[in-house]
Amino acid sequence: MNPLHRNPPGAGPHSVATVRDHSHCAHDPARAGQGAGLRLTESRQRILDELCAAGRPVGAYEMIDILAAGTGKRPAPISVYRALDFLVESGLVHRLASRNAFLACAHGHDDSQPVVFLICDDCGSVSEATSEGIDRSLAVLAKDSGFLRRTQMIEVAGHCAACQAA
Ligand SMILES: [Zn+2]
Ligand SMILES: [Zn+2]
Repeated sequence: MNPLHRNPPGAGPHSVATVRDHSHCAHDPARAGQGAGLRLTESRQRILDELCAAGRPVGAYEMIDILAAGTGKRPAPISVYRALDFLVESGLVHRLASRNAFLACAHGHDDSQPVVFLICDDCGSVSEATSEGIDRSLAVLAKDSGFLRRTQMIEVAGHCAACQAA
């Protein structure tokens, strides 16, 4: 028996929550996102599902806790890190460097598009947007420097509309 085995009330082996509500993220099977056609292993799919359900950035350690609570079994951290890396490389998940956390991609945009994250300091909400204007500006900036772009993630911290109103 795994000493870390956890079985919170109401979370028996049969209540392993397979979160399938992807309506607010890019992984709704009805919406052909970047990951369309990608077959995920069960553990990768579960992590993606949990990130979609969370709808906010989740750190690797918190993800381990979420998985442990859902399945009653604590996954090895290395397997969670690897799964998260895979999901990031697949474009299904973004890593927010400023938060050291992971976020399910909010919309199935093209890999080549710059992504802007608006991160609220107060409530932690993150909205994701792409911008053709920023894409053009970055293209000019990179060209002038003879630089070949690989990633283009822009993280903007501040206060969301709801928190400003509060
Ligand atoms: Zn995205
Ligand atoms: Zn906020």
